[in-house]
Amino acid sequence: MTKLSHTAQKFSLNTGDAIPAIGLGTWKSPPDQVRKAVCHALQSGYRHIDTALNYHNEVEVGQGIRDSGIPRDQIWVTTKLDNPWHHRVREGFDKSLSDLNLEYIDLYLVHFPCSTDPNDGTKHLPDWDFAKTWCVILNFCLKDSRLTDRSRQGMQKLLDTGKVRNIGVSNFQIRHLERLVANPSCKVVPAVNQIELHPGNPSTKLLEYCTSKGIHCTAYSCLGGATDNPLFKEPVMGQIAHATGKTPAQILLMWSLQRGTSIIPKSVTPSRIDENFQLDGWELAKNEMEALDGIKTRFKVVQDSWMPIKVFFGDDE
Ligand code: NAP
Repeated sequence: MTKLSHTAQKFSLNTGDAIPAIGLGTWKSPPDQVRKAVCHALQSGYRHIDTALNYHNEVEVGQGIRDSGIPRDQIWVTTKLDNPWHHRVREGFDKSLSDLNLEYIDLYLVHFPCSTDPNDGTKHLPDWDFAKTWCVILNFCLKDSRLTDRSRQGMQKLLDTGKVRNIGVSNFQIRHLERLVANPSCKVVPAVNQIELHPGNPSTKLLEYCTSKGIHCTAYSCLGGATDNPLFKEPVMGQIAHATGKTPAQILLMWSLQRGTSIIPKSVTPSRIDENFQLDGWELAKNEMEALDGIKTRFKVVQDSWMPIKVFFGDDE
């Protein structure tokens, strides 16, 4: 069997663009460490960096990109619109662009289908939903005198700026996607849905739904969030590690890749950044994939309780 080079692999998107299969995650990467981590990853061959305004480290992520010396056009950068910026899409986007100090973003995602009141994180914005965030915002009626016409541009309109190549969503469940594409003002189907995917939260129905609609999925928390990870302790993990000579982390990453999702493992540890990129020349056998699919442990890293509204509806089961 020909073994794929996953480190060079890209997944085609519905826009005609292609996203590198393996990226570096940066959530919870401290600003004083993420610069070196990003630089190390890019110099080691990674060509995809995942970040977000909400991670509060985009200045340092951008510095790491420049430190690497890798030409910008060889790097894929994904960032995300934070929940309190849903009614100010252009401003949120410009803030990321300016913090990262980049000319353009490869993929810009709505971080959650949840629009939080910027003045009170426990409240959802009244009369707002993600369809307004996505579509051109015309009948804007929030009582905010600072808002200008520029503020009223939704995600779709960003594509006209030439500063973003692809737009997508994150943490969208089937019911969110159905409502979005059914909106008469929705002209662009999201290119990507970035969602939590690991054997403890396989979301098979959601993954199949996205695939059927031409929406690529990126797996976040693909190491299961790693610290004290129950997946690492699964007996099947030990058996596959023994049979393949690979680490539990590598086995989890390969499981995700073989399901057709891109992956964005986070690490600030150079040896782990390297380990997570050693995914060429081997694959999991069918029975090993099935054994991992058969893991019964269920958990989520990202929780509803962090947001003022319920986001997750069990499409994950
Ligand atoms: P993750 O990648 O599943 O796990 C990260 C943790 O695993 C870190 O503590 C890291 O430690 C450790 N680790 C990394 N490689 C390891 C290895 N080979 N062996 C053992 N431990 C290892 O978790 P995540 O950060 O939740 O998810 C990854 C990325 O997805 C995020 O960074 C972010 O970019 C994205 N994400 C997006 C969303 C969203 O809502 N769209 C939500 C969550 C995450 P060290 O850093 O100390 O090495």
